[in-house]
Amino acid sequence: MSEAVFTKERHIRYFLRCLKTFLPELYTSNDSNRILLAFFTVAGLDLLGVLQSKTTPEERQGYIEWIYHCQVPSGGFRGFTGTDFGTERRTRENEAWDPANVPSTFFALVILLILGDDLSRVKRTECLRWLPKMQRSDGSFGEVLGLGDQVEGGGDLRFCCFAAGTRYLLRGKSAAGLDGVQDIDVEKLVAFIESCQAYDGGMAEGPYCEAHSGHTYCAIGALIFLDRLSNGSKRVSLVSPGSQRYESLIRWLVSRQTAELGEEDDEDSDDADGPAGDDDVQTLTKAVDRLNLDESIDQLSDLPPPTKESLQWAGFNGRCNKYADTCYSFWNTATLDMLGKLPMVDAAGNRQYLLEKTQHLIGGFGKGVGEPPDLLHSYFGLVSLAFQGEQGLDSVDPALCATHRTTQHLHSLPWWQETLTD
Ligand SMILES: [Zn+2]
Repeated sequence: MSEAVFTKERHIRYFLRCLKTFLPELYTSNDSNRILLAFFTVAGLDLLGVLQSKTTPEERQGYIEWIYHCQVPSGGFRGFTGTDFGTERRTRENEAWDPANVPSTFFALVILLILGDDLSRVKRTECLRWLPKMQRSDGSFGEVLGLGDQVEGGGDLRFCCFAAGTRYLLRGKSAAGLDGVQDIDVEKLVAFIESCQAYDGGMAEGPYCEAHSGHTYCAIGALIFLDRLSNGSKRVSLVSPGSQRYESLIRWLVSRQTAELGEEDDEDSDDADGPAGDDDVQTLTKAVDRLNLDESIDQLSDLPPPTKESLQWAGFNGRCNKYADTCYSFWNTATLDMLGKLPMVDAAGNRQYLLEKTQHLIGGFGKGVGEPPDLLHSYFGLVSLAFQGEQGLDSVDPALCATHRTTQHLHSLPWWQETLTD
């Protein structure tokens, strides 16, 4: 069996194309989310170790200026410049039409750090005053502040993670210089996160929902961000080895690795689900009449057991009974890495899946077998390989979802390090 090859040069060219030429038309609907696309592009080149060599200082300064242009005067960042109607026309009454956005704020800050900015132009106090306003009474976070300061959107674990991440980035080690700035309600946030653990151990978007790897990553990411600022003084059972919550979570995460790759081209079958017409109803009635469980079971085809051959490629899914998908190689391994249990996965199977099944000929990674590359799956494919020590990739901080170099840069900033003197 030949060794799977990581085509680093092609990935560099893929990310540079995304940075310096137009993105394909399919990205049009993501226009209001440009900061996220910028994050994947800049972070991808940084992870590949070429951000400094393949862009000029002037270009990087231009990217920094664009991010600051997305900062709203009252604190936080918008996801693109399309809602900006100018500071001179902005009033307290109309600012809800150009709101700061919780995920965009987190990504804007991380991009600035990747680009080497010291965050000195970030409206730190304003942003940290805005953040608690985004928290709902159940402890979760919304996405934007609407008319009448109403919290709108969000409510699931993604927004909890970005809010906790923003707090971590801006509060600094000991919240120096933030006297009188009210913090978010950490206890309530932790209680909300814990309430999202499903019966099978995974984390769901809300209480009593289905466990999902993306939300699981966000739950643990949020707890890690909170923990980094609490100096380990508060133990949360979800991230405490030995607790029932922790052990069932690990079991659920490890069980997401699968050799079911969905290679057969049967993806279109879902699209046929339109509103039921008369014919559909009749067919359904006949089908129900014929329903005989024993007979149906006898007619099921045999499921071939996995073989040594089929187990060579083992990606990850995000929910039970789903096929593997490149991004879940990230959501699951990143979470296991944060929990100190990454060695429990079949790293060789994951590598083989990513490099031989979803790594694309032109660079980047597709979502599944044979799919074209896109920015999200390309970045997450690289990050999952980085966790496993792939040659040519820098090491990644799983919570920040950027290189350890980025975290070190944050921790080196004088205002972040400052400790309270008493
Ligand atoms: Zn995906």
